Amino acid sequence: MAALACVTTLTFAVSTSAGTARLAPGASSAGAGPIALSRTSAHGPCMIHGAREVQMSEGIPTSEGYSRSTGVVHALNLMIDFSDAPGEGDALDRFREFFPQTRQWFRTSSYGRLDYRPETPIPGWLRMPKSFREYAIERGAPFDPGYRALVRDIVAAADPKVDFRAYDLLNILVTPNAGPSALDTVLSVTFAGNPEAPAADGIPVANASFVYSRQDDGSGSYDRTGYRVLPHENGHIFGLPDLYTAEGGGAVGHWDIMSEDWGANNDFLGWHKWKLGWLDAAQVHCVATPGTTEYTLTPLARAGGSKLIVVPLDSRTAYAVELRTRAGNDETVCRPGVLVYKVDAEVDTGLGPVRVHDSRRDSGGCTRAPNVHAELSDAPFTPGETFRDVRRRVVIKVTRTEPSGDYRVRVTRG
Ligand SMILES: [Zn+2]
Repeated sequence: MAALACVTTLTFAVSTSAGTARLAPGASSAGAGPIALSRTSAHGPCMIHGAREVQMSEGIPTSEGYSRSTGVVHALNLMIDFSDAPGEGDALDRFREFFPQTRQWFRTSSYGRLDYRPETPIPGWLRMPKSFREYAIERGAPFDPGYRALVRDIVAAADPKVDFRAYDLLNILVTPNAGPSALDTVLSVTFAGNPEAPAADGIPVANASFVYSRQDDGSGSYDRTGYRVLPHENGHIFGLPDLYTAEGGGAVGHWDIMSEDWGANNDFLGWHKWKLGWLDAAQVHCVATPGTTEYTLTPLARAGGSKLIVVPLDSRTAYAVELRTRAGNDETVCRPGVLVYKVDAEVDTGLGPVRVHDSRRDSGGCTRAPNVHAELSDAPFTPGETFRDVRRRVVIKVTRTEPSGDYRVRVTRG
């Protein structure tokens, strides 16, 4: 396992090669510990995992060392600047580009199970001792040496006023004039589950997101959507991999913020909600034995009810099935219906661990919203339509909708 550097945007994820994602014994802190995954013995076959080690896996449960994703989570926010990129205006204005939106985003997505508390014990710009140029921060830069030096300097500058043990995760909101425009290069990055990071108040700064520049596409939506890089980066802090690949958002489209975090709002996949501890065992159906069973699915964006059907194919892969509608964080859904995707716990971050099945291939999709992968926007199956994997003998038929807005789905395993 590695210390992780996941770069947000549509190209690729990078990682360093050293370290382990597990915290050293005795190093656990307010931020460490396993997530509150809800499952019963019947869920065992659906708790897929990779045989070989990957940096950041879709496997369930998430390995230890990441920040917990349920209950009260205290986020330390520090706004930093440099002699060659001095912060302009009030540092709290930088903070307000991301809050309260990020807190609300997590509350909505988690059905209230993640109470994200952003705090700013140092309300002004925290000046770094070296110039921005001297840290040699570039897209894809590994933790060593630049980020190690930067984290060490951040800790030294903040330590007199901050007790790092009081926080579960760290957000470094860099002055937007440091580095290139996000339209040219996205520098924003997260180092998660990284026990090799410099220590502060006796614990490693193991989970830290760095946000640079502004994800402003010039469409005029920045005030509404520009914060979305932070829930994406914090997703890594909770152990989630990047779902975009070197080819862009074509694997998952706009169905998860780990796939696309520019443009209009979108939610997490149901798989991620289960992984993060936001679904009860009774909301997740594991279809492990041959036969035909009909299930009800309630819209993923709505609290309560049945959310996710998992059909395991072997110990490391599974189909996941959920109902997506335009509600909650899902702003751009143009064809509500049942989304079917394959999860592979052995495929690493940025290499396509999740692939959405498109019910209408080469249709061009139903949305023209900017920064939304159009082709997959009409991927969901609607009543009367059937997903078939002939080789694995899996058939998923959407039978009907209920007046309540729920959908009925019949799953057959051979
Ligand atoms: Zn990322």
